Amino acid sequence: MDHAARRAKLRRRLAEEGLDAFLVINLEGSDGANLRYLTGFTGSAGGLIVGKEGDVFATDSRYTERAAREVPDLPIEKLPGRWLDWLADRLESLSLKRVGIGAQRTSLWLYRELEKRLKGVELVPLEGWVEGLRRVKDPEEVERIAAAARLTDEGLRWLLGRLKPGTSEREAALELEMWYRKNGADHVAFDLIVAFGEGSSMPHYLPGERELKEGDLILLDIGAKVDGYCADLTRVVALGRPAPEARAIYELVLEANRAGLEAVRAGVTGVEADRAARKLIQEAGYGDQFGHGLGHGVGLEVHEGPRLSPVSEDTLEAGMVVTVEPGVYLPGKLGVRIEDLVVVRPDGCEILSAFPKEELLVL
Ligand code: ZN
Ligand code: ZN
Repeated sequence: MDHAARRAKLRRRLAEEGLDAFLVINLEGSDGANLRYLTGFTGSAGGLIVGKEGDVFATDSRYTERAAREVPDLPIEKLPGRWLDWLADRLESLSLKRVGIGAQRTSLWLYRELEKRLKGVELVPLEGWVEGLRRVKDPEEVERIAAAARLTDEGLRWLLGRLKPGTSEREAALELEMWYRKNGADHVAFDLIVAFGEGSSMPHYLPGERELKEGDLILLDIGAKVDGYCADLTRVVALGRPAPEARAIYELVLEANRAGLEAVRAGVTGVEADRAARKLIQEAGYGDQFGHGLGHGVGLEVHEGPRLSPVSEDTLEAGMVVTVEPGVYLPGKLGVRIEDLVVVRPDGCEILSAFPKEELLVL
């Protein structure tokens, strides 16, 4: 990963916008993805000043040794206990007058503490500067996401071979998480969702003690994280003969998923891609049962830009990695979502999730 080139892009923008520096502060993970994107640093506390003349990286004693390995292209400065005072002095010593800071990940507390200390320095909240750079992935990032997607598929195959009546949702989710971590994932990309039967109607379900029984639909929304990059996949399968309604909803959602995939290409807006899939669900009379957007960007974070939804302001560009995940949810009854992960290309998209979906798989 060419972190210096990413910082150079920010530096060019500073000049254009009349700023002297851009500040990234990660407090217990508050801005971890942006800091990692710009430096390679994976620790949960540290900061970066991207300045007109050069960059300053700092972390505390817990991380200095790791940082020396992960951030070889910058000197590592050690933060003292009173790091806010240190930072104020450091900005002053560099004569930085107008300093941008990411608005989305800076807490109001931090902003106030900085303002209190920064005499003669104007702090400028900025939206989406690093997040904007992160939208289009370079080939190395795509390869990491593809590796996470492959591992996610493999884990699902493993889990489906073990599910049997009496298994609880929590057990299944936990075993799958362990499998991912034993097989090369740094972590899971998010809390894995395993929902049996009526639980599948809640899009962001919390797996519980519900036990699997014959005739249940099983919704799995899962993802491994590999080398910092996330995967995101949803499949629905059944244990034993599913109800005819479940099959019909599955067919509908599958058609919408295909229409969405068909629509994704560079130049298409997030609204247009969403509409291509949503139209089919609306025409079938289930428009109100598809409450979320069609998809989202995936990278260092599982939910990032761009958005594919009726209110998206984004246009797809080649190299973006997004999900296509239409769903229909009938509260108290069942839910079906089919989610694929794709790379946007100039004339279409390349699907990274290979797990079969062509028909409702019956275990
Ligand atoms: Zn998902
Ligand atoms: Zn998703």
